[in-house]
Amino acid sequence: MILIGGGIMSAHLGVMLKRLDPSLSIDLYEAAPELARESSDGWNNAGTGHAGLCELNYTPPPTVTGEPVDVSKAIEIFTRFEQSRQFWSYAVAHGLAPRPAEWIRTVPHLSFARGAAPTAFLRARHAALVAHPFFRDMEFTSERDAIRRWAPLLVEGRTAEPIAATKIAAGTDVNFGELSRRLLTWLGAQDDCQVFTGHRVTHLTRAATGWDLTVRPTASGDSHSVRARFVFIGAGGGTIPLLRATGLPVAQGLGAFPIAGQWLVCENPAIVSRHFAKAYGPPPPDSGALGGPHLDVRHLQGKRVLLFGPFATWTTKFLHGIGRGTDLPYSIRPDNLPTLLRTGRHNAILVRFLVQQALQSMDSRLRALRDFYPGMQAADWRLVDAGIRVQPLKKADAGRLTFGTEVVTAPDGSLAALLGASPGASVSANIALQVVQTCFPDTLGSADGYARMKAMLPSFDVDLGHSSNASAYARRSAEIDDLLQLRPTLAFA
Ligand SMILES: Cc1cc2nc3c(=O)[nH]c(=O)nc-3n(C[C@H](O)[C@H](O)[C@H](O)COP(=O)(O)OP(=O)(O)OC[C@H]3O[C@@H](n4cnc5c(N)ncnc54)[C@H](O)[C@@H]3O)c2cc1C
Repeated sequence: MILIGGGIMSAHLGVMLKRLDPSLSIDLYEAAPELARESSDGWNNAGTGHAGLCELNYTPPPTVTGEPVDVSKAIEIFTRFEQSRQFWSYAVAHGLAPRPAEWIRTVPHLSFARGAAPTAFLRARHAALVAHPFFRDMEFTSERDAIRRWAPLLVEGRTAEPIAATKIAAGTDVNFGELSRRLLTWLGAQDDCQVFTGHRVTHLTRAATGWDLTVRPTASGDSHSVRARFVFIGAGGGTIPLLRATGLPVAQGLGAFPIAGQWLVCENPAIVSRHFAKAYGPPPPDSGALGGPHLDVRHLQGKRVLLFGPFATWTTKFLHGIGRGTDLPYSIRPDNLPTLLRTGRHNAILVRFLVQQALQSMDSRLRALRDFYPGMQAADWRLVDAGIRVQPLKKADAGRLTFGTEVVTAPDGSLAALLGASPGASVSANIALQVVQTCFPDTLGSADGYARMKAMLPSFDVDLGHSSNASAYARRSAEIDDLLQLRPTLAFA
């Protein structure tokens, strides 16, 4: 088996496959000199354990006034995140990802709304969510003093507009880069498994059984060929060019469009020590499903910092580290040019939003921050790069943009690839499960394989979101919290 890319996705799939069948031989090739330094790196994503607790894009406002808020997407993302928590607690218990306090923490998740209509929506969303056991502990308030206790920076210096917030104490902040490196260190130490850094996969062709890959080590520059019975392309921004090289039907007409992210960062301890939450606002109306701005406490490289964003900006690179400015132009071919043009035509509002984002000045970014944190001082904030999302543009979508993540596979199950960036890292265990279910169905059909998967993901064949499973879920969830050492943290501890 060969895994391409050393980020969170390959880490989960590699470990899951090896635990399912310890006799497997698995090699992983990572082009960069270090593992998990692209999108999975702590600075390159928001580290939010996406569970529908604070992100307003999972609960769109009703199209008909007075209708209840549809919370089905929030329940779905919660269920998928719970599978990640199950897998991570298994990894901790079995020594595959030690010292969880270094890569996952409890951080309250807040949603924040300003103005009469958004605060009314937040109230209605809260009413719909608390009816489900997953969200029972969510609190709502429109009282300034209560919001001040939860997140003082959101309130100080604010004019008398209506505001409201919801809070769940048991949200998480995850350093997906640290977690990936721990899982891959374990994988690389197993019999018949190797993890290579500085090795770029440049091409794939069909072999009689499986695939032949061309691999170029950075050190020597001399390419060689390796054969694999099964290939997973978990190359983040590098996935689409490799998928196109396979010639599979799904790659026909497939285009790619990169959107780079940026954060405003504050490292001033006097400010940082006063915000202990991930506070999400509503997505701008014309931003598609790119998500809303948020003010987050993060723990990166042993330091507590605040991040605000993300802001979108232009790039023609598909990856920061090993990407080139020619990635986008070289990806355009006669078969995918119509897909790109059709997508641009159908999404004029989103294109306008991206142009505005890319052209905005530092002042306008700071204004967006001031909407959240009225008392902010520009001198406390600097702009840094976040990860690059490479949006797949599929011919079959006829110009419509789909923002989720999608596992695509060869019809014979010999290859799988992950397209899309969001919800992403939070659902990596579920993505690995989907690959196993599609490409290795016999493994789960055997009594041994089933028992091994049950040990890693106890809910993999259970509908956790169904109310009849609520008490089993609550019991199991408390055990997971213990293993992951997740404890409600005092706000300013
Ligand atoms: C701004 C931003 C914020 C985000 N916030 C969140 C969040 O809060 N929560 C969340 O769950 N998700 C978030 N995400 C999404 C999340 O970061 C990604 O879904 C996830 O990191 C993708 O992991 P990956 O392993 O697929 O890709 P990556 O981490 O990018 O790893 C791919 C690896 O493949 C390597 N590679 C590429 N091409 C080749 C090749 N040809 N040969 C060998 N190696 C190759 C790359 O060097 C890289 O190391 C965010 C993303 C962005 C951009």
